[in-house]
Amino acid sequence: MRWGIFSDVHANGPALDAVLGDIDRVGVDRLLCLGDLVGYGPHPDEVVRRVRALGCPVVVGNHDLAAIGRLDTSDFNPFARAAVDWTAERLSDDSRRYLEALPMTWAGGPVSAVHGTLDHPDDFLYLQTLDHARELLLDQERFLVVFGHTHVPITFALSGDQVGVSCERRVDLSDADRALVNVGSVGQPRDEDARASWVLYDERHRSIEIRRVPYDYEPVVTAILAAGLPSVLGERLRFGV
Ligand code: ZN
Repeated sequence: MRWGIFSDVHANGPALDAVLGDIDRVGVDRLLCLGDLVGYGPHPDEVVRRVRALGCPVVVGNHDLAAIGRLDTSDFNPFARAAVDWTAERLSDDSRRYLEALPMTWAGGPVSAVHGTLDHPDDFLYLQTLDHARELLLDQERFLVVFGHTHVPITFALSGDQVGVSCERRVDLSDADRALVNVGSVGQPRDEDARASWVLYDERHRSIEIRRVPYDYEPVVTAILAAGLPSVLGERLRFGV
């Protein structure tokens, strides 16, 4: 089984197109989406409709909940909050209902999926320390947990009592007991690489490939400005920050 896993599309239609095109070329058996379909970008309803049409499992992200009024945004930065308000006015009733029905977590075969972390899915924690990664790896029931939220692709692997961390594009997990993989962001990467990110997980070979896909972000920058969204939300797409 080959899994195509993507996250944090953030209402960026061209980036989603590019990733789905790459997934088609590479060929996968299953698709998984890890939330934050909307927020920041100029194409919220279009992105929800497109992801919904894929018919794949999708877990909910904090920006999805914020956009439908189900999450307190007082700890969002002012740019993110402006985008939440803008997005809320542009979602169709169908799209709202779809986002509202998304689960916090999903599990199937060797894989569990969550937007933030499995220990507190609805707190949307950022995984930032090796100690936290170790706790999560020791607690997880399935071989692989995939997540998003930080917009930075990274792999943690547990072998015996050793936790390894890797930012490599290809990671061999054949010796690992369990792994925890952040698949990066489709629509707003933050690792100084502007290309859209997704992950190919090859279950048989137990390998991870972080794929980066170039797309034309200038029309998205223009659309963000035209929408009256904060200009920084467009400019950052050029730098992947
Ligand atoms: Zn996000």
